[in-house]
Amino acid sequence: MEKVVIVGTGCAGLTAALYTARANLKPLVLTGKQPGGLLTTTSIVENFPGFPEGIDGYELMTRMQKQAERFGARVQFGTLEAVDLSKRPLSLTVDGETVETETLIIATGASHRHLGLESEQLLENKGVTYCATCDGALPMFRNQPLVVVGGGDSACEEALYLTRFGSVVHLIHRRDTLRASRIMAEPALSHPKIKPIWDSVVTEILDVKQDKVTGVRIRNVKTNAETVVDCAGVFVAIGHIPNTAIFKGVIDMDDAGYIIPKKGAATNVPGVFVAGDCADRVYRQAVTAAGMGCAAAIEAERYLESLNQ
Ligand code: NAP
Repeated sequence: MEKVVIVGTGCAGLTAALYTARANLKPLVLTGKQPGGLLTTTSIVENFPGFPEGIDGYELMTRMQKQAERFGARVQFGTLEAVDLSKRPLSLTVDGETVETETLIIATGASHRHLGLESEQLLENKGVTYCATCDGALPMFRNQPLVVVGGGDSACEEALYLTRFGSVVHLIHRRDTLRASRIMAEPALSHPKIKPIWDSVVTEILDVKQDKVTGVRIRNVKTNAETVVDCAGVFVAIGHIPNTAIFKGVIDMDDAGYIIPKKGAATNVPGVFVAGDCADRVYRQAVTAAGMGCAAAIEAERYLESLNQ
């Protein structure tokens, strides 16, 4: 039987792995479908402390994994298919096999909601990105027209952040009013560099043939008129989807599927802890996820100690 199983190998999962490994708990760490998590999809990470020149997202996650493995973490390619958290030990189904464990750390992260366009997929990391904080400062976006898609707080935050780099930021929203809170919307709408485009949806990102972003084709949903907006980057900020479906009905979560931690990193099920973006709808940064992973590991360690008293 395992003492600790960690699901997810993003910043939260691998930091939890590092801490539980150093506590000699030999954690089993399951990668899920995206080993290394969301950061592996970004190019340069410039806001993780300790890397003044920035670090490639994939390399950062590889280093985190190596660091955890150095102390005995066992990282296994595997996907969690089912859980039975109603009895002790906790029972997991991983690629058809049963794994029993005393504690579980859920660090399954969240996925960016995508527009669902083929051109979006083909131009990802070639001008299409889901994180202005991660990618906005890249040279390819400097002094260029940029597009942000979305009308929520994230879209406003991304657009405001991008005004530091882009020549103009087109904020494309499918309705004529923002969903964003006033405190986020007002600075965005009054910023001289941010140009809202209302009632419009992106129907295609150009130009797949050139293998880089040169613009977006948009359709006005009221008039059906199509136009092209030139840009060097498209920042899709239409929300996130926490990867928690498998825990629905078992672990307490909010309406959007974000797990609700109780008292630090604990959940409503004893022995089950949570860390990172699957429980964070506010910050969603690599360094905050890592901090939550550390907290979950310490809580799991204390829980195991309490069982032995
Ligand atoms: P959100 O509030 O769910 O907003 C998503 C936006 O994307 C909405 O405007 C929505 O349009 C649009 N959208 C969704 N699907 C779309 C699609 N397929 N095509 C085009 N547009 C689409 O998500 P969020 O902005 O990421 O915010 C999530 C949560 O984090 C919120 O609670 C927010 O307050 C919080 N947050 C807070 C801060 C802050 O306080 N600093 C910053 C970021 C996020 P509709 O409006 O038409 O539905």
